[in-house]
Amino acid sequence: MAAPLIDITRELLADQFNRAITYLRISVTDKCNLRCVYCMPERGLPWLPKADILSYEEIAQLVSAAASVGVRSIRLSGGEPLIRKDLPRLVQEIAAIGGIDDIALSTNGLLLEEQIDALLAAGLKRVNVSLDTLREDRFMEIARRPGLDRVLSGIDAAIARGLAPVKINCVVMRGYNDDELAAFAQWTRERAVYIRFIELMPVQENLDVQRDAYMSADEILERVRAIGDLHAVAGPGGNGPARYFAFDGAPGAVGVISPLSHDYCERCNRVRLTADGRLRLCLFGDHEIDLRGPLRSGATGADIAGMLQAAMLIKPERHHLKLGEAASRMRAFSEIGG
Ligand code: SAM
Repeated sequence: MAAPLIDITRELLADQFNRAITYLRISVTDKCNLRCVYCMPERGLPWLPKADILSYEEIAQLVSAAASVGVRSIRLSGGEPLIRKDLPRLVQEIAAIGGIDDIALSTNGLLLEEQIDALLAAGLKRVNVSLDTLREDRFMEIARRPGLDRVLSGIDAAIARGLAPVKINCVVMRGYNDDELAAFAQWTRERAVYIRFIELMPVQENLDVQRDAYMSADEILERVRAIGDLHAVAGPGGNGPARYFAFDGAPGAVGVISPLSHDYCERCNRVRLTADGRLRLCLFGDHEIDLRGPLRSGATGADIAGMLQAAMLIKPERHHLKLGEAASRMRAFSEIGG
């Protein structure tokens, strides 16, 4: 039998496919202050009852258990994480946990400028900002709320605080924002930003638009190449699935994230914790286990660590996402954390 690619010891979280799981993405709320057309209906979603949402203390307990079995990086997401009260307190609690050496945030940027100093003081290391258009009228169409200027101020604030590279996540949709690919890419020639173009993924909420609006990473790159030659570059580190390319001499880079056209499941190093305390083994698919119940019934850190290790047995080898088809029982990205 071939030797395992990694050392599967009791200290490591490793799945059946020799993937070490070192990265935990946590949704801290299912609520959002935007209503992006590909993510949430205009009326919002039936929000989780407050009592179902993990408290900061509970999240910190779960992170401690995860750290004890090898999780090293945490990303806070949502919904919109910055609408949850006093997020810096959670960052501070997580930063104090031994073994955790990276805490990042995914945000739509609306509240970033006003919170960034407190977040950095608490121990935040990196930030990704989602932005799908550079035009205010279109921001209203895609996000169904105003605020482009606030998002741009948030990005500026992050860069000004030295949080380089700031990654910008842009979901590309034919007929919505595909004519802005060049404008986004042009940014990377001027600033140390990493623009990551994301293929639109099918969820129940967007099946009607997804089929026509989907653009593959190859097509996206072809459009970007129209404004200059790109060469492959190493990414800015971190845990991401993106492939990066840069124009000659540019301080930033263009990335593509292609879950549909070129999946990266074989490199998967992550699991997710939903706002209501379920460990989600794959963004797509139904593989999840409840950690909140055991935690509230008195499970110890060692018990939770054991549950995390046992959960590795059901982490699927890959997703089977198809264009125009939502994964079965797919939860909204806002609940899972995207
Ligand atoms: N509110 C935060 C934000 O805007 O980054 C965090 C949560 S949001 C659900 C995380 C990421 O998922 C965003 O970059 C968003 O654009 C992306 N996303 C949501 N639904 C998506 C979909 N159907 N396809 C591709 N990306 C999606």
